[in-house]
Amino acid sequence: MLSLFAGCQHPLVNLQLLSAFICIFFLNVSRQNEEQRSLELSGHVGFDSLPCQLVNKLVARGFCFNILCVGETGIGKSTLMSTLFGRTFENEEASHYEEEVRLRSQTYDLQENTVKLKLTIVHTAGFGDQINNEESYKPILDHIDAQFEKYLEEELKIKRSLFNYDDPRIHVCLYFISPNGHSLKALDLITMKKLESKVNLIPVIGKADIISKNDLKNLKRNIMNELLSYGVQIYQFPTEDEDVAEINSSINNCFPFAVVGSTDDVKIGNRMVKGRMYPWGAVQVENEDHCDLVKLREMLLRVNMEDLREQTHSRHYELFRRCKLEEMGFKDTDPDSQSFSLQETYEAKRKELIRELQHKEESMRQMFVNKVKETEAELKEKEKELQERFEQLKRLHHEEKKSLEEKRRELEEEMNAFNRRKVAADTLMGQALQGCSQQPLKKDKDKKK
Ligand code: GDP
Repeated sequence: MLSLFAGCQHPLVNLQLLSAFICIFFLNVSRQNEEQRSLELSGHVGFDSLPCQLVNKLVARGFCFNILCVGETGIGKSTLMSTLFGRTFENEEASHYEEEVRLRSQTYDLQENTVKLKLTIVHTAGFGDQINNEESYKPILDHIDAQFEKYLEEELKIKRSLFNYDDPRIHVCLYFISPNGHSLKALDLITMKKLESKVNLIPVIGKADIISKNDLKNLKRNIMNELLSYGVQIYQFPTEDEDVAEINSSINNCFPFAVVGSTDDVKIGNRMVKGRMYPWGAVQVENEDHCDLVKLREMLLRVNMEDLREQTHSRHYELFRRCKLEEMGFKDTDPDSQSFSLQETYEAKRKELIRELQHKEESMRQMFVNKVKETEAELKEKEKELQERFEQLKRLHHEEKKSLEEKRRELEEEMNAFNRRKVAADTLMGQALQGCSQQPLKKDKDKKK
């Protein structure tokens, strides 16, 4: 089979992709054999270069790979990404005070020999930091669905260019489990259960250097038991292809990967290696006795990258697409029933939507009429209350006016009586004064007599 690639220009072609292509090719040929004759060629005609042509084309175009890192802030997600790819990815410092889980995505163009890779790393900022973590998985699911939606939109476009389209779908999710504790937290279980049908899920224990070998062994065992008893489906490396069956099936027993990340160089003897230096010695991240980083890199990037991309397309995206199209009213027909018509489906869906719209319009109109009636009744009630209050005030005012009038009349009468008394008093006073002034004259007259 590999002799087909003898003329291939690229030594780093993805063997899995090629074998998948060839399998499909031969499968199709054998299906056709039922109706067609197979002929021996008398000499070399050249179509055996077809796989190479395909590979050359793919390599020239480049590949996309998107990794989602889910885990608490500070568990070592950014450091692990930098360690895996052997370069420092600039990343915003994560804070423990995010109000909600936010997904931060960064894309990098990488090249290894002739192979170009557009790598997108998505981080979950604020995951596990909220007081109530119940809904923490939602923004993550929304992000994954949004990427599927983008791809579906491109697929459904009239002018589409899927070959040159930068695939935004998440190909793998590294779920970081804390090394502190005896097993998984409720948040881990809930989130992983929600993610299992959306993405290829690989659990990893972050900062595995901070626990002892024995504790790590127990932690791994407990995690796997719990995942099994809650039926959480994690990604399994494929074992169908005989080239990778052995390595993949042995690694399938190594979940979850216990990883240590570091971009620092430490001196071991006279070698410089990536590691973390402690007072009692150094943890070498690429030493398989110290952690599983090499295994993870091997599985993720060197052996199964294409399977992760393929599974994303054929399993997770397919499920999303099926549900979405069914929601839109599309359905497949079996061979006996009438053939499927896109136009009719579209028309039926359009009519259904119009009906729904009319129904909504009618219920909104009814709601509006009821609201207006309610408001009118309330206003009338208020008007009646106001009228009663007005009448009451009018009555009070009238009574007060009447009593004031009464008081005024009484006062006027008192004033008149007072005036009359005053006039009488003045007259009396005048008469008395006059009497007093005439009395001495009369005495003088009497004396003279
Ligand atoms: P993130 O918030 O999950 O992206 O975490 P970072 O990668 O920013 O790491 C947070 C801190 O943990 C940094 O100080 C790292 O140096 C440290 N760190 C990262 N990976 C490891 C590890 O594997 N072991 C230990 N002991 N510390 C680590």
